Amino acid sequence: MKIGLFGGTFNPIHLGHLRGAEEVRENFSLDKIIFIPSGVPPLKTEGVIEGIHRLRMVEAAVKGNPFFEVSDYEIQIKGPSFTLNTLFFFKKLYEQHTLFFIMGVDSFMELHKWHRPEEILKMIDLIVMSRPGYKKIRQGKFIEGSDGENCFRIKNSDKKVYYLPISPFAFSSTKLRELVKSGKSIRYLVPEVVFEYIKEKKLYC
Ligand code: ATP
Repeated sequence: MKIGLFGGTFNPIHLGHLRGAEEVRENFSLDKIIFIPSGVPPLKTEGVIEGIHRLRMVEAAVKGNPFFEVSDYEIQIKGPSFTLNTLFFFKKLYEQHTLFFIMGVDSFMELHKWHRPEEILKMIDLIVMSRPGYKKIRQGKFIEGSDGENCFRIKNSDKKVYYLPISPFAFSSTKLRELVKSGKSIRYLVPEVVFEYIKEKKLYC
C-alpha cells in the first residue's frame, strides 16, 4: 500500500486540510491517508484546545470516507509531539508499505525549526501542498536540486520532496478561531459536523 501520513494541529480541521488530502490522495494514487492530530505541538502553543476535542472533530470530519483514517497516536503520548517519533512508530507499523508525510508549504518553510529535520528527511518522502500566500519550494537548506518541475532531491538522503499545487483555500485554523471569537460564522469553511461540534461545546469563544 501507499500510505500518506498527515500530521497537524487541526485546531480545528477545515476544508483546506480535507480538500488538500483528497487531491494528494488522487494525484499520488495513495491507498489511504492517516490524519494524525498532534498532542502537545512543540511549535504552536497559543489557543491550542484539548487534544480530545481536536481528535473528535477530525474523526467526525473524515467519517464516511473509506480512504481517510485518524490516529490518536500523538494525542495518547505524553509530552510534546515530535514528528520524528511518530514516524518511527508508523514505519514499524507499516514496514512493508510505502509511506509519505504530507504537509503544507508553510510547514515545509519552517522545517528547520522542527526536531531533527534531517533525520525526518532521511526517513520518508514528503508531499508538500501549495498554500495561498506561500511560494513554491526552491533550492534551500534541505534541497539540493530537482528532478523535473515538482520533484526535489534532498541533501544527504535518497528520499524526495514532491510539491503538489492544490486548489487554494485561503483560510487557516487561526483565522477560523478568530472568526468564532468575534462571533462570526465559520459555516461552509469546516464540515457541518465540525461546525456543530464547535457550537455545541462552545469552543474557541
Ligand atoms: P494554524 O492557523 O492554527 O497554524 P493551519 O490552518 O496551518 O493552523 P494545521 O493544523 O497547522 O492548520 O495544518 C496541518 C498541515 O496542513 C500543515 O502542514 C499545514 O501547512 C497544512 N495546511 C493547513 N491549511 C492548509 C491550506 N489551506 N492549504 C494547504 N495546506 C494547508
